[in-house]
Amino acid sequence: MALRSLLPKSLLAFFSVALFALLLPLAAPAQAYVGKPKLIVIVVIDQFRGDYLQRDRAEFKGRGFRLFLDQGANFSDCYFDYANTKTAPGHATIGTGAYTDGHGIETNDWWDASRSFEHKVSSVEDERYQLVDVPASSIPANQPGAPDDAPKFLSGSSPRNLRATTFGDELRLATQGRARVFGISLKDRAAILPTGQAANGAFWIDTASGQFTTSTYYMEHLPEWAHAFNASGRVNEAAREAKVEGTTQFFELVGRMPAANRYELDFARALISGEKLGQNGVTDLLVVSLSPNDIQGHQFGPDSDFEEQMILSLDRDLDSFYSWLDQTVGLKNVWLALTADHGVAPIPAEAAQLGIHSGVVNSKTLYAKVNADLNARFSPGKQVQYLLPGADLPYIVLDRRVFEKAGISEAAAEEALAGLLPPAVAAQAPQPDGPLPLQHRLSPAAHVAGVYTRLELAHGQLPASEMGRLLAHSYAEHGNWYVMMLLDAYQMSAASDWGGTTHFSPWSYDRHVPLAFYGAPFLPGEYHQRVAPVDLASTLASLAGVNQPSAAVGRVLTEALKPVHPDPQ
Ligand SMILES: [Zn+2]
Repeated sequence: MALRSLLPKSLLAFFSVALFALLLPLAAPAQAYVGKPKLIVIVVIDQFRGDYLQRDRAEFKGRGFRLFLDQGANFSDCYFDYANTKTAPGHATIGTGAYTDGHGIETNDWWDASRSFEHKVSSVEDERYQLVDVPASSIPANQPGAPDDAPKFLSGSSPRNLRATTFGDELRLATQGRARVFGISLKDRAAILPTGQAANGAFWIDTASGQFTTSTYYMEHLPEWAHAFNASGRVNEAAREAKVEGTTQFFELVGRMPAANRYELDFARALISGEKLGQNGVTDLLVVSLSPNDIQGHQFGPDSDFEEQMILSLDRDLDSFYSWLDQTVGLKNVWLALTADHGVAPIPAEAAQLGIHSGVVNSKTLYAKVNADLNARFSPGKQVQYLLPGADLPYIVLDRRVFEKAGISEAAAEEALAGLLPPAVAAQAPQPDGPLPLQHRLSPAAHVAGVYTRLELAHGQLPASEMGRLLAHSYAEHGNWYVMMLLDAYQMSAASDWGGTTHFSPWSYDRHVPLAFYGAPFLPGEYHQRVAPVDLASTLASLAGVNQPSAAVGRVLTEALKPVHPDPQ
């Protein structure tokens, strides 16, 4: 304004052009995402229940979890709005902002009538692809170069079952592929599903050796930096830290220890450096899914000393990772998000000691009982197998081929099974000296909260209630007949006498996860309104200025956004 008032118009025009020309090389390129970050990192902690952040809050130090709690937007009441609280659907939900009825992932592995009646297919199994550059000793029998005694027949993996795009896919589309999108986990499903179909790469470990691998869906060979990481001896160091040096069961023995979180985060550093993330002039995305918490959590439960050690150790490791990010990409150029794929139930025996009506249903006995009942109904005197094996409650899958052969309709078959289940569960009252750890003041038997047939789920014939909505969000079509049986809260099934715990229910403890953000656009604070993990992808898509993922149902969390966010440049 001062210049304008002092100079004649013609001179002003000249100066304006000259000034513009002078500034041009310094300005951001025309396609730059002004105000957008160079890199977004989503950290997903497997089986990290929403209350853990509150429980251990006083113990956190540095810039690990505190980065979100003190300087970020933290939503302490985030609940999945469906019943499929497992790793694969959880990660798919985080990426797509949709539930199973939108993204198609119902659990970790399922009977798929269009693919096999011999085995369940995993959520990411794809026999058209192969694992990449695994150590010679781990090459499965069906791949070139396998040792003569290779016992395993393994498929490669891909997002073939994912029916919706992810936030990462939309970043790739919006930038005609210039945005770079990667996923990391110990598990293939957790690296693949939150990143999507158009991801540049997803990396997970060969379970025996612990070396990172990928699938030919993404690339024929690991990048140089990943080869270098595998050759660096870092994998041995992780095994040493876990006190199982030389193990050939890396996933089980190292994977459940805090050492494996550090191992994954070191791989994330190698990826960010190797792929030059945050240096592309557009927003890149990395999803890091930390698996160890789930592996140890199943064994020892949410209230063990191991869980607390895992959380506090992870706090230090995240502090170190975020500090490294600050020194390299610069935290002012980064947005961070933190969440989990599902929660977990307490160990049933521990809940029972406090008087909760917890319990364990023996799925083997249950299957035998209802199969006998189905024979009595449809084929007296015979021993037909009416159920497909591999119980994974709440889903119980019927062998449709057997019913079809006998001319029994899907409706008749599913309704018959649905009617037999509640009495069969009630009949499993525990023996006084038996292994089932039930409390002693309430009913001695577990209780069925509801049974729903696939046809009811498919046609939306569900209660007009909150539960009805959770069930509608849980539906996927895989060509098989099934019923969904919900046990009461804090009750679960197991195939044998086992002291662990699990997750796969519509109850609050399985659905409660953290949801927190850090970065320039977020208004720091503690937010207590009920939100859902689908809001993560929707909020990031809105802030990044790209389309919502194709089936997204999340809400943009406007209450946690600054009215105008500053340009991180
Ligand atoms: Zn789990």
